[in-house]
Amino acid sequence: MNAHFVKPLAAGVRFAALTSLLASICVAQSTPPACLAHKPADGGGAVTANRPPARPTAQEIKATAEAGAADPSVLLAAEPLENFGAERYRIADYADCTGGGGCYWADFDAQATRAEAALKVALGQQKPGDRLALVLDIDETSLSSYCEMAREDYGYVKPMFESWIVSPEASIPLLGTLRLFRTARAAGVAVFFITGRPEEQRAATAANLKSAGYEGWTDLRLREGAEKAMSATAYKSGERQKIVDAGYRLIMNVGDQWSDLNGSPKAMINVKLPNPFYYLP
Ligand SMILES: [Mg+2]
Repeated sequence: MNAHFVKPLAAGVRFAALTSLLASICVAQSTPPACLAHKPADGGGAVTANRPPARPTAQEIKATAEAGAADPSVLLAAEPLENFGAERYRIADYADCTGGGGCYWADFDAQATRAEAALKVALGQQKPGDRLALVLDIDETSLSSYCEMAREDYGYVKPMFESWIVSPEASIPLLGTLRLFRTARAAGVAVFFITGRPEEQRAATAANLKSAGYEGWTDLRLREGAEKAMSATAYKSGERQKIVDAGYRLIMNVGDQWSDLNGSPKAMINVKLPNPFYYLP
């Protein structure tokens, strides 16, 4: 048995301390975070990564296909789509910054740096008496699901994911967004988190935001009741409208999905972060 699973609470506390340390340093992020194996809250077996230890490179996959196609004894099939398994290799490579196909963490951090620069310019143009608000999505915007997505081989296994997301391990900050958050807070901008997560996950979500280093935000909006049946665009734009109705001007809205950004009202600056892992319409 892995020593991590003997005292799962203690492991969670240690992990929270680690993420807090990372958050306090808050340097540019260009590599994936270390991941602990997660033990489900229902007492089930430990969940560990099931990704094969080695995966072929894009060049090797291409070479295999070309060699096969060049063999006159092979009858080729119509294959109009990219092979899904090969695409998962590419996603894993991109997330792990291996394989030569780019690095998710560096791309994310670069975009957060652009957002921070744009925020500073906009802050310099604010009018006296402005009550400014920054809106942040949570998943793949403020907190990363990387460790659980990798564990699920980028397949999304809902019971596994739902168990993990309310655990202390789900407090991995995306450091570029944390820098942006701190720049906004230092300038007196109110920060609102708007997430598609359900109201039932409020306590765990607030605790994980705190562990990740997000402190001093104004509000956390989660879906409850009929909101759970709404499209993400309708729900999130509706929550932004409530913030505007409360007297704030939306200086910036940040999300990894177009449904985080679309709809009215729009912020002055809308930041689309990279997310090759999933799509939420
Ligand atoms: Mg998101």
